[in-house]
Amino acid sequence: MRERRLLIVEDEKPIADILAYGFKKEGFSVRCAYTGASGLAQAEAERPDLVLLDWMLPDLSGVDVCRMLTETYNIPIVMLTARGSVDDKLLGLETGADDYITKPFDLREVIVRVRAILRRFDRAEAQAPEDAPVRSGRLVISEKEWSVSLDGSRVSLTPKEFELLLFMTKHPRQVFSRDQLLCRIWGYDFDGDNRTVDIHVQRLRKKLKISDALVTVFGVGYKYEPRDED
Ligand code: CA
Repeated sequence: MRERRLLIVEDEKPIADILAYGFKKEGFSVRCAYTGASGLAQAEAERPDLVLLDWMLPDLSGVDVCRMLTETYNIPIVMLTARGSVDDKLLGLETGADDYITKPFDLREVIVRVRAILRRFDRAEAQAPEDAPVRSGRLVISEKEWSVSLDGSRVSLTPKEFELLLFMTKHPRQVFSRDQLLCRIWGYDFDGDNRTVDIHVQRLRKKLKISDALVTVFGVGYKYEPRDED
């Protein structure tokens, strides 16, 4: 089995250390973030398999972080909190957390529950038709064949154009900043500038005749607005 990547977002370093120690011993690759903002940044950069997320963080609340993560990524989240009320628990689950563990916790129990969620998640992913082509308006985008066709004729795209198109069409109506797109498509340490995104978007619009589907969100970035018919 491949190495599992775990991200721990917890401002209390001793607790983060205990968790990191326990999961590393179990063969996980572990990263820690001590604020909500750095947790979000690390989740974006490293795409962990699961996030252990503390409820009370110094900058953002764990609930907000959870919401932001589940809106953007398909990553399971386990919330950690001081022994709390039932209301907290409900809220945690409503924000999209997959499980909820109260502190003080038993390390072995946390590991067992994390493993159970990962197994559940693997099964769900295996059942999802990952290879099914994405259809939108006159476009058919096949990730399996790494190809795009417009009205049935193949259009030749560069690898980055293709990745950008695929990413945008997989997240319809979601607005991404240029920085987010750079980070996602070109990688975290890409040292080009935001113009790179603009240039690729312009080329996609031209090649695929989708200027009204790849929408500029003024002052923010871009989104993909799918169309059923032209
Ligand atoms: Ca805390």
